[in-house]
Amino acid sequence: MARKRALVTGAAGFLGSHLCDRLIADGMEVIAMDNLITGRIENLEHLFHLETFSFFHHDVSKFIHIPGDLDYILHFASPASPIDYLKIPIQTLKVGSLGIHNCLGLARAKKARVLIASTSEVYGDPTVHPQKEDYWGNVNPVGPRGVYDEAKRFQEAMTMAYHTYHGLETRIVRIFNTYGPRMRLNDGRVLPAFIGQALRGEDLTIFGDGTQTRSFCFVDDLIEGIIRLLHSDCVDPVNIGNPDEITIAEFAEEIIKLTGTNQKVVYKELPKDDPKQRQPDISKAKDILNWEPKVHRSEGLKITYEYFKSLSKEELFKKEHNNFEKYIQ
Ligand code: UDP
Repeated sequence: MARKRALVTGAAGFLGSHLCDRLIADGMEVIAMDNLITGRIENLEHLFHLETFSFFHHDVSKFIHIPGDLDYILHFASPASPIDYLKIPIQTLKVGSLGIHNCLGLARAKKARVLIASTSEVYGDPTVHPQKEDYWGNVNPVGPRGVYDEAKRFQEAMTMAYHTYHGLETRIVRIFNTYGPRMRLNDGRVLPAFIGQALRGEDLTIFGDGTQTRSFCFVDDLIEGIIRLLHSDCVDPVNIGNPDEITIAEFAEEIIKLTGTNQKVVYKELPKDDPKQRQPDISKAKDILNWEPKVHRSEGLKITYEYFKSLSKEELFKKEHNNFEKYIQ
């Protein structure tokens, strides 16, 4: 049987790069695409020698041309941290709207199946807990997170329209907070922020009073869920995440214990529209995909800490880990 070919957008990012690894391990040929605005080419360097891997430095918001057949398109290109949305709001909107339009058009031309990375942010600051797929959300369209939340909501709508109107094979995963090696240091997300601070000997910054909750999923669990969804026949959105919910204050304590830092926590202002609680209801994924997370936070955090410890001092103290200055919005 001919080797299947998959295009991964946002391939040099945290999730995109793990996805490339998995698809290659599953025997596929992977075409990786990234504009490297927030992605890091280092995340893919170990794949460059493979005949089954190629990389295109390209912005998916612009027309995409891929020679030859394609079986799958996995759209993972997007900034994914609230700090990034504030810095590159228009790019965030464009990749979720123009980017998905290009991916869907390409999928139609190639008769490929598309899987899009959606997010728990489609639920906004949820009034229902835990969040089930049939909850429509509580999103402020003009708030700081609106550029991401609305782009992702549009992306879901567009994907569904291509499915219903053109009969395209589509899959939608709603990804909840995920962590693991290759997260970008200083992207503003809570885990790299806390571990980076501990490694640099700085105090850990808790935003607000730390009573807000999140539920963190280890990357290997998430990727397994995504692959199962890709090969399933489920067109409706599916939550993938770990329901093990924790407050941010408790999370800071766990990081302090893990790293053995002598630093304390300091409190900073809570960003606008920061969701108060978040926990996925994963009964659908359990039913349809026979999937549930396996890696406990204590284990996943150890692996992640080892990754951050392996970064060079120069990397650790670098202020920015992005290429925003190269991008004209
Ligand atoms: N947060 C924090 N300190 C930081 C960075 C984030 O207390 O240095 C909080 C943030 O306000 C939010 C939670 O941690 O309540 C998770 O933030 P993250 O940016 O990782 O993801 P999201 O808010 O999108 O879930």
